[in-house]
Amino acid sequence: MNTPFPKTQFADDTSFVYSPELSVLARSQLSLSDENIFARFGSFPRAENVSYPIERIVEIAGRTCYLSFSNPSGRDTGEYIENLVRQGHESVLEHVSWTFLLSGVSRAFTHQLVRHRAGFSYSQLSQQYVDHRAIRFVVPAEIQSQPGLLASWKGTVLAQRGAYIELVESLNRLPSPLKSREKIRSMRSAARSVLPNCVEAVIAVTANARSWRHFLDVRGATEGDVEMRRVSALLLHLLKQDAPNMFSDFSQASLSDGWPIVQKIVR
Ligand SMILES: Cc1cc2nc3c(=O)[nH]c(=O)nc-3n(C[C@H](O)[C@H](O)[C@H](O)COP(=O)(O)OP(=O)(O)OC[C@H]3O[C@@H](n4cnc5c(N)ncnc54)[C@H](O)[C@@H]3O)c2cc1C
Repeated sequence: MNTPFPKTQFADDTSFVYSPELSVLARSQLSLSDENIFARFGSFPRAENVSYPIERIVEIAGRTCYLSFSNPSGRDTGEYIENLVRQGHESVLEHVSWTFLLSGVSRAFTHQLVRHRAGFSYSQLSQQYVDHRAIRFVVPAEIQSQPGLLASWKGTVLAQRGAYIELVESLNRLPSPLKSREKIRSMRSAARSVLPNCVEAVIAVTANARSWRHFLDVRGATEGDVEMRRVSALLLHLLKQDAPNMFSDFSQASLSDGWPIVQKIVR
């Protein structure tokens, strides 16, 4: 018996995505349930009126090293964080993390992203468990403003999706010794071989602040990698909202191609 597959209808304008989509799924939360725990050290950090609770977490963790809760240097939280970064004491930044949900990015992009190991965790859309007959394709920035190129690119990509659909449906009609679930996995595994690098990926990614800083440092300013630059700029924007001092040595600018770049300022 054939494995049942719903027929899918496509509208061309919903098949393409032009911009990365990024949202914060989770972030570290300051939860100092008992501030008196520090009382025996003579002084302790109060949590009220904290502008950036995530930076406060890092400050408390850092001050634990020297029991400097009484703040002998008189630095506020922001200055304390900037000093940690300046001194390269970045292991303290590992105490806070963000989880982002990314879509509108290509599988080529996520293949580069998942090369980052230290401090990162990933959960990515499966090409085996998810039917890709209605998947979107990420239009490369370089092509978006070139009508002639864009039209032929779209034609090529849609033809590849057509080949994917034909393969899935033809393989589905063949007899198979595999049980339903494994048959579907096998059909999709074979059919995905004709999907292009620009097929949309969806990925949840968690990393600590130190790891995000490393990512932005090595990825944000690669001029020829516009998709990476665009995601880096979105990331930096969201990270700075929560922890401006932790990322104050990163800035965003635009290159002459009109797309953003993230640069690390060497101090
Ligand atoms: C411009 C550019 C071009 C690239 N081109 C290619 C390419 O052609 N082919 C290719 O395969 N990759 C390529 N890469 C990917 C690159 O080699 C890294 O795999 C990727 O950038 C992740 O960097 P990372 O290892 O520093 O990051 P992470 O894995 O996040 O590691 C962070 C840091 O932790 C330390 N670390 C992590 N794991 C180890 C370990 N096992 N041993 C010792 N120290 C460790 C290192 O100091 C490392 O810098 C490219 C990257 C860039 C930015």
